[in-house]
Amino acid sequence: MALKKIKKVLLQYWGYDGFLPLQQEAMETVTAGRDAVVILPTGGGKSLCFQVPAVLFPGVTVVVSPLISLMKDQVDSLQESGIYAERLDSTLPFDQQKEIVSSLLRGELKLLYISPERLLTAGFIDILKKAHVSFFAIDEAHCVSMWGHDFRPEYRQLSKLRKLFPKAVFAAYTATATEHVQNDIAQQLHLKDPNMLVGSFDRPNLIYKVRPKRDIIKQVLKVINQFHRQSGVIYCIRRKDVESMAAELRSLGYKALPYHAGMDDNERRKNQDKFIREKVDIIVATVAFGMGIDKSNVRYVIHAGMPKSLEHYQQESGRAGRDRLEAECWLFYSPGDYGTWKSFTRDMNEASAKIAMEKLSAMYNFCTSGTCRHKTILNYFGQEPEKDNCQCCDVCLGQLETISDPLVTGQKILSCVARLEQRYGGSYTAAVLTGSRESRILECGHDNLSTYGLLNDFPKNVVQDWIEQLCGQGYLTKAGEYNVLHITPKGLELLRGNETPRLLKPAIKAGSKSRIAEDSWKNVDKALFEKLKDYRTEKATERGLPAYIIFGDSALRDMARLKPTSNEALLEVKGIGEKKSKQYGKEILNIISGHKQ
Ligand code: ADP
Repeated sequence: MALKKIKKVLLQYWGYDGFLPLQQEAMETVTAGRDAVVILPTGGGKSLCFQVPAVLFPGVTVVVSPLISLMKDQVDSLQESGIYAERLDSTLPFDQQKEIVSSLLRGELKLLYISPERLLTAGFIDILKKAHVSFFAIDEAHCVSMWGHDFRPEYRQLSKLRKLFPKAVFAAYTATATEHVQNDIAQQLHLKDPNMLVGSFDRPNLIYKVRPKRDIIKQVLKVINQFHRQSGVIYCIRRKDVESMAAELRSLGYKALPYHAGMDDNERRKNQDKFIREKVDIIVATVAFGMGIDKSNVRYVIHAGMPKSLEHYQQESGRAGRDRLEAECWLFYSPGDYGTWKSFTRDMNEASAKIAMEKLSAMYNFCTSGTCRHKTILNYFGQEPEKDNCQCCDVCLGQLETISDPLVTGQKILSCVARLEQRYGGSYTAAVLTGSRESRILECGHDNLSTYGLLNDFPKNVVQDWIEQLCGQGYLTKAGEYNVLHITPKGLELLRGNETPRLLKPAIKAGSKSRIAEDSWKNVDKALFEKLKDYRTEKATERGLPAYIIFGDSALRDMARLKPTSNEALLEVKGIGEKKSKQYGKEILNIISGHKQ
C-alpha cells in the first residue's frame, strides 16, 4: 500500500516512474516510521528520499540543512514541482518569515528547510511544538561527526531534538561518510534502531581522464572546445592562476568568469548567478567554488592542477554530472603541484604533516599509476567496484598504453638514482639518463656514469614522467626541500626484479569512446535540444531561477528524443510532473511542432 502511494507521488510531482538504487528502501523505511541513515553518492537522488515521504506524511517535515543556497535551490525546485515548501532564514523579510510560521501552524506547509542554529533557538522549538512535525530529515549529516570532513559544532546540538520530539521519525542523509562516521551520526542523533542504507560511492557517469600538465592553456582549450555551449568548471590551485586563466579564456572569446575567496562578495555572487542561469558557460575557480551550489548539468570539471587529496578530488570532480548524465573530469597534474602541497606541510605538526603526506601520496598515485580511476577512488574509500573494467576512464578505454619493458626501464632509472648517490631530483636524473650535455652535468662528471644516456632514445620530459610514475607507485620518494629522489624498499625489490612497475607510453591513443555518452544522446535531435535549452534560459531569466530548476538536462534530452505532440505524451518525459506540464507544456509543444515543420 505504502509503496503504491510512494510511486504515485514520485510520478505525479517529479515525473519519475522508477527508483534509483536504495531510494525505494529509504522511502519505505521512513514512511513506515523507522529511523534511517542514508548514504548515497552525489547525484544518487538523496533529496527525493526525504521529499517523497514528506509529501505523504501528515503535518510538516523539517529539513535541516547547513547552507542557505542549498536550501534555496531545493525549495525553488519543490515549489516548481507544485509542493508547498519554504525555508526560514535571516535573509527573508520579517513579514515573509511571519507568514511562513503562520502557514506552519495552520498545518499547510509540507516541508520546512532550516539551519540548525535557527531550529534550536528556544523560541523556534516552542513554535515547532505547536505544529505537527512528523519527520526530521538531517541533510549533509556528516557535519554532525567530528570524524567527518566538515564538522559543524551547531550540528552536534541536534542531539537534543530526539527527546523534544519523541514521536517524530528521524533520518540522516549524506554523500560522504566512512563507517566510523555513519555510526557516529546514528549515535549523535540518538536514532532508534536506524536502517543503515549505504550505497556505492561510485559515480558511473563520470569519465575520468588524467594527463601530465604541459601547456595548460592549450590542454584546457582542447577539452572545452568539445563542450560548446555547455557548462563546465575549471579548478586552479591559486587565485592568480584563476585570474589569468579566466582572462585568457575571455580574450579568446569564451564566456568564462573567475570565482575565488579573494574577490568581493558581491562580484562573486554575480558570477555564480550568471553561471547558474547559464549566461556564462565556464567558471574558473579555486576550491572555494561549489560549496552550496547544486547546478545539476555541469558537463565537465577540469583540474588545471592536482588537488591535495582524493577526498578533495572526489568532491570537486563530483560537481560534474549531478543529473546522472555523462560528464568528463579532466585532471592535469605536475610534479610542481606535488611540491606545492608538500611545501604546505612544513608548517604543520608532525602528526598532521604525516597524514597530509599520506593523502598527497595517494592522490599522486591516482595520477601516475595508470590503474582504473574508478577502482582507485573506490578502493581508497574502502569499496570495491562492481566490474573490473569501468569503460569510463582513460585507462579502461585504452587511451593510455603501457610500455613493453617497464621492468628494465624502471631498473635503468633506479640504477641512475643510485649512481647519483640519491642526491638529485627528477629533472636532473632525467637529464643524466637522456645524455644531456648541460654544463652542470659535465662539470660534475656525471657523463662518466654507467647510467649516463641509458634512455637517450627518449625526450627528457618522457623520462621525467616515468620518474614521477615511479614516485607515485612508491618505488621512489622525494625527500627534503629539493625533492631529492630516494629508493624505497619497494624500489629495491624492483632493482632485484621482484616487482614490475606500470609505465605509460608517452603518446595518447585515441582509444575507444565511452558508451555512456553515446547512449544518453541516442536518438536525441540535437538541434531541437538546443532550441529547448534557449527556451529554458529564457524562462530562467524571466523567473529569476537557476536554469536546471526549470528543467534538468535529462528532461530536455528526453523531450528532444520523444518529441511529444500532446500533453499526455509530454508527461511521459522523465522529469516532467503535472505542474511543469501545465506551466510550460503549451510553449514546449509549440517549439516541438515548429521544429518538426
Ligand atoms: P543528491 O542529492 O543525492 O546529489 P539529487 O536528489 O539532486 O541527488 O538527484 C540527482 C538527480 O537524479 C536529479 O537530477 C534528480 O532529479 C534525479 N533523480 C532523482 N530520483 C530519480 C528517479 N527516481 N528517477 C530518475 N531520476 C531521478
